[in-house]
Amino acid sequence: MDYPEINKAVRNKQLDFIITNSGHYVYLEKQYHISRIATMMRFQNGQWIDRFGGVIFTQSGRSDINTIDDLKGKTIAAVDAESLGGYAAQRFELFRYGMDAENAHMYFTGMPHHKVIKEVLAEKADAGFIRTDVLESMSREGSIDLSEFKIIHSQKSKEFPYLLSTALYPEWPIARLIHTPKELSNKVVIALLRRHIDTKTSKEGDIGWSSPLEYSEIHEMFQALRIPPYDKPEIFTLKDIWAKYGIMIFSFAFITVIFLLIMGWMYRKNSYEKAYVKSILDVSPNPTIVTNGEFLISANKAMLVFLGYKSFEALKDNHNCVCDFFEEGDTDEYLQPKMDDQVWIQYVLSHPEREHKAKITISSKTTIFKIDVSKVGDKKQFRAIAIFTNISLMLNQSTSDALTHVANRLHFDLLFEHALHIAQRENTPLSVIFFDIDHFKKVNDVFGHLAGDDVLRQIAALVKNMLRQSDVIARWGGEEFIILLPKTAVVFAAQVAENLRKTIERENFNAVGHITCSFGVSSLRENEVEDTLVQRVDGLLYSAKEKGRNRIVVG
Ligand code: GH3
Ligand code: MG
Ligand code: MG
Repeated sequence: MDYPEINKAVRNKQLDFIITNSGHYVYLEKQYHISRIATMMRFQNGQWIDRFGGVIFTQSGRSDINTIDDLKGKTIAAVDAESLGGYAAQRFELFRYGMDAENAHMYFTGMPHHKVIKEVLAEKADAGFIRTDVLESMSREGSIDLSEFKIIHSQKSKEFPYLLSTALYPEWPIARLIHTPKELSNKVVIALLRRHIDTKTSKEGDIGWSSPLEYSEIHEMFQALRIPPYDKPEIFTLKDIWAKYGIMIFSFAFITVIFLLIMGWMYRKNSYEKAYVKSILDVSPNPTIVTNGEFLISANKAMLVFLGYKSFEALKDNHNCVCDFFEEGDTDEYLQPKMDDQVWIQYVLSHPEREHKAKITISSKTTIFKIDVSKVGDKKQFRAIAIFTNISLMLNQSTSDALTHVANRLHFDLLFEHALHIAQRENTPLSVIFFDIDHFKKVNDVFGHLAGDDVLRQIAALVKNMLRQSDVIARWGGEEFIILLPKTAVVFAAQVAENLRKTIERENFNAVGHITCSFGVSSLRENEVEDTLVQRVDGLLYSAKEKGRNRIVVG
C-alpha cells in the first residue's frame, strides 16, 4: 500500500496491525491514535540496530564546507522531501543551529539514496543528505571509496556504529489500531519479542523486534519543522488565550486602569494648583512675573496691564524676558538684562543684601520699581518669581515739592552739597539765584489761596522750562524759589535771572494777570561754604525788594 491507501485503510478500520516507517507512524499516531507495540531491529555488522539518523556529507576535497554554517547558499541534494533519515533529520539539525534549509538550494533526486551520492561526486551538488548506513553499504559493495567523503557535523555514538550527522531516531514500529482486540495484540507482541535475537547465531540483514522505543522526538521534530500532521498552526480560541494569559491580561488591564486614574487625578490636581497660583498672582496689585531663567513662564494681570498687553501669550510672543523693558543706563543704580555676566534674575538672587531697582518707561512715562525675587527648585525645575513694587511715588515724595513738583528744600540741600563738592574739586564756577514773588500776599487776598497755588505752579513750570537740564530749581518755602546753576559764572547767572524776570513779568497768569519777582544772584567764592552763599543771595534778594522789587541784584 502507498501512504494514501494506508491512511484510508486506517481511517476505515480495515487493518488491525500496521508496519510503516517512523515518520508515517508518528503521523498516524497523531491522526488516528494507533499505538506502537514493538520497534524493529536489523542485524548489521554483527550488531542489532534499532535506530537510524541522517548524514550530511560533501566531497573530502571541499575545504570550503566544514560546518553546518558553511552550507548557507550551497546546493544540496536529498532523496525525497518526505524522507526522515534522508531529509527531515538533517533539516531539524540545521534548524537547531539557527539555519533553515531554505538558506540553501535544496533539490530532490528521488529514490534510491545512492542517487544523492552520485550528484555530489559529479559536483552537481555541493553537499548531500542521506540516511545512515547508505555510505557504508555502498562502500561494502565496493561502489564508492569512503575516503572520498567528508562528514559534516559528525556525531559519535557508542551504540551506533555508522557515520552520523544528526540525532538518532527509532526504527520502524509495528502498531495496533484502537479497535484491534487486546488479546490479539498481546499475542502478537509476545510472538515478536520471542523471536530469536542471539547475536552469535543471527545473520546479517536479520529482522528482530524490541519493546517499543519512544517516538516523541519525531513528534517534536515534526512540530518544529511544521511537517504533517503539524503543518497547520495551532487553533487558538479567545478562551485559550484567556486561559493561558488571563492573569497577565487582567493584571495589565488593572494596572493600566489604576495608572489612568492616578494620571487623571494628578492632572486635575495640577490644573487646580495652576489656577490657584494664577489667582494669587492676579490678585496682587504689584506687577509680577515667573521665569525659569531663560524665558517667561507667567505674568500676572498687573504686569500685563502695566506693559500694555492683553494676554500673557501676546506678551510672550514678543518678549522672552521682562528685562527687555529695563531702561539702559547706570548699572550701579538700575538693573540691566545682564549684570556681571549673570542674567538679571540670577544676579538679584545672588545679591540678596542689596536693594534692586529697575527703571521702565512705557509710552514716555517712567516708573521705578523695587524688585524682590524668590526662587523654587534648581536647574530644570528652576522657577523664580519676581515682584515689582512701584517706588516712583515714594522717591518723588521724598525729593520733590508736592505743589509745584520741583525739588523740595531737603533735596536741594543734598544736590547743593554735591554741586559744591564738584565745583571745589574741579574748580568750576557755581551760581545761585534766589527769587521771591512780589506782593504775593495780595494775590492770595484778592484772588484766593487756590489761585495763589496756581500761580506758584505756573511760575515753577515756567522757570523750570527755561533752565538747562543740569540746573536745579527748588522751592525754598512759601513763594520763594532757589536755582542752582553748576558750571555757570555769575555774569551768566545774572543773564539767566534777568531773562526769568522779564519772562515772568510778561506772562499772563490767568485771572491774576501780571506778577513780578525779585532776584538775588551770586556765585561761589573760594573756600566758601553753602550757608554763606545762600545767606548772601538771600541778602541780595532783600536788597532787590528794598530797591523797589521786580529787579535783580547781583553780588
Ligand atoms: P513781598 O515778598 O513783595 O515783600 O510781599 P509778599 O506779600 O510776597 O510778602 P510775604 O513774603 O510776607 O508774603 C508771602 C505770602 O505768600 C504769605 C502767604 O500768604 C503766601 N504764601 C506762602 N506760601 C503759599 C502757598 O503755598 N500758597 C499760597 N496761595 N500762598 C502762599
Ligand atoms: Mg516771601
Ligand atoms: Mg513775596
